[in-house]
Amino acid sequence: MTDPAVRTRVPHVLILGGTTEARRLAADLTDRLPGTRVTTSLAGRVAAPRLPAGEVRIGGFGGPDGLAHWLREHAVDALIDATHPFAGTISFNAAQAAATAHVPLLALRRPGWGPGPGDTWHPVASLTEAAAALPALGLRVFLTTGRMGLAAFAHLTDLWFLVRSVDAPEPPFPPRMETLLDRGPFTLDGERALLRDHRIDVLVTKDSGAAATAPKLTAAREAGVPVVVVRRPAVPAGVPVVESPGEAAEWVVATVG
Ligand code: NAP
Repeated sequence: MTDPAVRTRVPHVLILGGTTEARRLAADLTDRLPGTRVTTSLAGRVAAPRLPAGEVRIGGFGGPDGLAHWLREHAVDALIDATHPFAGTISFNAAQAAATAHVPLLALRRPGWGPGPGDTWHPVASLTEAAAALPALGLRVFLTTGRMGLAAFAHLTDLWFLVRSVDAPEPPFPPRMETLLDRGPFTLDGERALLRDHRIDVLVTKDSGAAATAPKLTAAREAGVPVVVVRRPAVPAGVPVVESPGEAAEWVVATVG
């Protein structure tokens, strides 16, 4: 059956989502461009995701070729990669697919965090490097890098971990671990209490740059807790980047409006 967007030539925007910024952009575009079809794509990692305005599709595309096929089949006029800064594979796939299907592509990336006065940060390039840094920094670890990738810490049998994630982790993970199922935004008071009550002596985080999860950095600074910060992967070469949903909406309006 012919896709409705092809039949009626309604402009079609695809947002690769899974972030607060992607939801804000979808809400903004459905308001500002009522005659435009706005679809958000989610990977399907979270059991009960927060759903954005507009249409939603869930699940992988099958690599860059699958995404290029989807872009053509659904007559997509503009693609916005608004995925999490650490979702490097889908961003690479988006760059390839957009080039193949000749669809304009924009990356929306919230700004990263930076250390301020009083912070003790240890920047690392990967979860493996983060795990290697930990034994020298403390025995009780607050791990906020998500439930994927816990295998990198599984060999650290002498350390105790507080792992916070949206859904429950699956093995392999460290043997001495307590799980806290929760999803931001988090408060400064709550983060202070977590560090204190669990006698945390080192925090591990990705440089996700989100306001909703930044209070843990302030709480760590106040408590003199060192922070191991995993640096972001680069945005694929040649892809223009903006930092806010508002700027991304302007780009969409200029591209399809
Ligand atoms: P990833 O490693 O970059 O992607 C792995 C595969 O998942 C991709 O090849 C793609 O499968 C599929 N995929 C990823 N994002 C997708 C999307 N928005 N729509 C459809 N398929 C998608 O990604 P990840 O790190 O596992 O993250 C998955 C999703 O969770 C992302 O959408 C991201 O925005 C969100 N998220 C990630 C993190 C994080 O720390 N990584 C944190 C919060 C939210 P195919 O190759 O089959 O297309």
